[in-house]
Amino acid sequence: MEQLGAPLGDLALDRALFDRAVQVRNRTVGDRVHLRGLIELSNRCRKNCLYCGIRCGNGAVERYELTDRQVLAAAQYAWQAGYGSVVIQAGERTDEAFIGRIERLLHAIKEMSQGELGITLSLGEQTLETYHRWFETGAHRYLLRIESSDPTLYARLHPADHSYHERRECLTRLRETGYQVGTGVMIGLPFQTIETLADDLLFFQQLDIDMCGMGPYIEFPGTPLADFPSAFTRPERLQLALRMIALLRLLMPDLNIASTTALHALHPKGRELGIAAGANVMMPNLTPDTVRGNYRLYDNKPLQDMDLSGFNVALDNTWGDSRHFAARKAAASSSDASDK
Ligand code: SAH
Ligand code: SF4
Repeated sequence: MEQLGAPLGDLALDRALFDRAVQVRNRTVGDRVHLRGLIELSNRCRKNCLYCGIRCGNGAVERYELTDRQVLAAAQYAWQAGYGSVVIQAGERTDEAFIGRIERLLHAIKEMSQGELGITLSLGEQTLETYHRWFETGAHRYLLRIESSDPTLYARLHPADHSYHERRECLTRLRETGYQVGTGVMIGLPFQTIETLADDLLFFQQLDIDMCGMGPYIEFPGTPLADFPSAFTRPERLQLALRMIALLRLLMPDLNIASTTALHALHPKGRELGIAAGANVMMPNLTPDTVRGNYRLYDNKPLQDMDLSGFNVALDNTWGDSRHFAARKAAASSSDASDK
């Protein structure tokens, strides 16, 4: 691996770890990278997470919402390009107008793609009923990062009315509803230690998640958390994030693991490095250029389109579902059968 700046310890050891993770990935989920076209639907958010650039307390952001037509055009692009799936992500809203709009968009995307395009949602904490409504309308995967599995650290990253317990509960609701469930954490947060990161990996294992998206924490100037120092430099966060990917691949070999945009924000080849550390999913941004700059969760977020050359990507419109999910379902149905 190339030198990433001030390294934490042994680079040769990292190289051996990453190679091993890639071997395990290739053997279990294959060597192809699955794509999800990322559609950043809106930056309106009712929450006020202390690290996030689009928190409701940030009065300096111009708020936007994509039109149905823009969403469908992005989805159509993903379908025609053979990506197989899209992710619809936004700030959190729980009002009926929003919930109903998501339902209509799910319908429209399914109809447009003749049911072919898979749809992942990343729309924050919702009731069981809402998760059900969206699942019934065709979403089948959901991403909800726990941000940190340590409740004490979580509390330091959020205002008092945001609840670790509620977020954790949402992951259970999603699983009960039948989604493939993805979670993840930010890496290099203020107050975070190597020990809390190690515990995050064990948390993923304990929850038996299907997908994971982890990325380095990147300060957004003006947010409350940006006033607190991280124990790790940015190059160290990148390196830690790559180690987290590789270790998770060894711990849970059949998981879908994303090489996230935040890796790219810290290194021009960040996403390549994530794939070379054992990740198997990438999320090229399909948000229209005109509003992309307003969906700034963190500083220095890359805005340009992604160059896919050099990646062994799947472009055959397969969903690239989590093998872990399939194995989990098969195990559940065989134990049902043996109960009878
Ligand atoms: N509102 C939804 C989805 C959009 S936010 C939700 O919160 O689940 C998506 C992710 O962006 C968050 O889960 C968080 O992990 C990440 N994020 C926000 N601010 C960030 C920052 N400053 N650095 C790195 N990642 C950040
Ligand atoms: Fe809203 Fe998500 Fe940002 Fe929190 S992380 S402020 S929920 S967009």
